[in-house]
Amino acid sequence: MSLKKYSEFLKKGYVLTSKLCPKCKSPLLKDPRTNALFCPICGWKSIEFTEQEVLSDVYTRILTKLSIEEDPKKLYYLLKSLKEIKKLLKK
Ligand SMILES: [Zn+2]
Repeated sequence: MSLKKYSEFLKKGYVLTSKLCPKCKSPLLKDPRTNALFCPICGWKSIEFTEQEVLSDVYTRILTKLSIEEDPKKLYYLLKSLKEIKKLLKK
């Protein structure tokens, strides 16, 4: 596996995952904006991502918002959303 290819994408903000490419068995990278998985070695791309992946991504984004939100009303809604997502993630 080419480490140089990986570092190029990591610099762009891609995240290294523990999943392996179905084609060449290289570790897959994740596009932080679309959540799509991508193999820098053979170019394989996932078009779809699992519900769990989307939910945990949303969860992280809400948590980030929560940490800077000061309006109690908005805080309430953020906390409510977190609770709902947690329920879904446990499924
Ligand atoms: Zn591959």
